[in-house]
Amino acid sequence: MRRDVYTADHEAFRSAFRAFLDREAVPHADEWEAAGTVDRAFVTAAAGAGFLGFEFEAEYGGLGIADFRYNAVMAEEVAASGTAGDTFSMQNDIIVPYLRDLTDEPQRKRWLPRFTRGDLVTALALTEPGAGSDLAAIRTTARRDGDHLVIDGTKTFITGGATCDLAIVLVRTGERDGRGTTFVAVEHGTPGFGRGRPMHKIGRRAQDTAELVFTGCRVPVGNILGEPGRGFGSAIVNLPRERLSIAVSAVASAGHALNLALEHARARVAFGGPLAQLQSVRMTLAELHTDIQVMRHYIDRCVLALNTGELGADEAAGAKYKATELQWDVVDRCLQLFGGYGYMEEYPIARIWRDARIQRIYGGSNEVMKDLVGRAVVGR
Ligand SMILES: Cc1cc2nc3c(=O)[nH]c(=O)nc-3n(C[C@H](O)[C@H](O)[C@H](O)COP(=O)(O)OP(=O)(O)OC[C@H]3O[C@@H](n4cnc5c(N)ncnc54)[C@H](O)[C@@H]3O)c2cc1C
Repeated sequence: MRRDVYTADHEAFRSAFRAFLDREAVPHADEWEAAGTVDRAFVTAAAGAGFLGFEFEAEYGGLGIADFRYNAVMAEEVAASGTAGDTFSMQNDIIVPYLRDLTDEPQRKRWLPRFTRGDLVTALALTEPGAGSDLAAIRTTARRDGDHLVIDGTKTFITGGATCDLAIVLVRTGERDGRGTTFVAVEHGTPGFGRGRPMHKIGRRAQDTAELVFTGCRVPVGNILGEPGRGFGSAIVNLPRERLSIAVSAVASAGHALNLALEHARARVAFGGPLAQLQSVRMTLAELHTDIQVMRHYIDRCVLALNTGELGADEAAGAKYKATELQWDVVDRCLQLFGGYGYMEEYPIARIWRDARIQRIYGGSNEVMKDLVGRAVVGR
């Protein structure tokens, strides 16, 4: 079936972005895996080519294009390129709504032009050592002291945490409930703000993940994002978009894994012929192919629904859990088709498999996603 969500403009954008990745990312993928982070020059090049913050208005260096199909095209191409940095999903899919919707004009002038130039790599810091799924339990505090907030606490597992120039941090400013939290932007270099070293992960090694430590960290009240006390509510508004971004990349990664497995099954000879001619292998390939087609169709509809503001939080949660479960199933079965070669680091399927595992955990674990869907189905 032909996919009908993308226009000729999206496809032209896809070609340009693919060429960019082939030139600027693919040759460096191994180097970034070893370094634990993508090179800063890549971010600068991406910004120079217009791939960062294109949703912002032209006065801030953007293109004023608010169409999540472009974000989806990028997620698909990143997956197909076999490079696993989270630069675009983190900056464009996750952070942009915070900087666009929670900022006032002076804040936009301070941060958006730097963001679109690639001079302001950002991170979103919600999770703490003692609070992941249960975000209302965060203990990083910010107390008011004149014109400043004084932040104390620790965030963990923060994507881009080791290299970010600006962290958007959820802090406790009141009682232990959703209304007692506030978002505040903290710039690298602020005394009392420490970025940890990249954590040693089993996958997604080209993307740094780190702890952020705040010790008597003073930031001007002008760095508060959105309404004080409403941080949790803002996160809830933005999470469906983050979850859809994960779902899009999950289906794309599954599709990429299947393409590699198909290629291998056609070329690998066993019992006198190609693996792909064995009936049970064909059945496996048929199942994976069909599952991906069905899921892709649904995720395409979710992308359109996000564009029109109709994607429900429960629908995004369902899309995230179902697409990432599918990704894991497909990628694992594709690795199996490679036999022992699939377990070797030099085979791309090995990295795809390692990189896939986290998808069922971050952005809200799949158990929490099912809880959200269940509440909607049951009617709370
Ligand atoms: C590589 C990586 C990148 C990340 N990037 C970021 C980032 O950029 N910013 C950020 O803020 N965070 C980030 N995270 C954190 C991530 O979002 C959390 O790890 C995730 O939300 C789960 O929280 P937790 O690890 O504290 O697990 P817990 O909340 O302790 O959960 C442990 C287990 O209990 C289950 N569980 C919890 N609650 C329920 C429930 N109500 N019902 C059923 N089961 C439940 C979970 O599903 C899980 O299986 C990242 C994590 C990783 C590993």
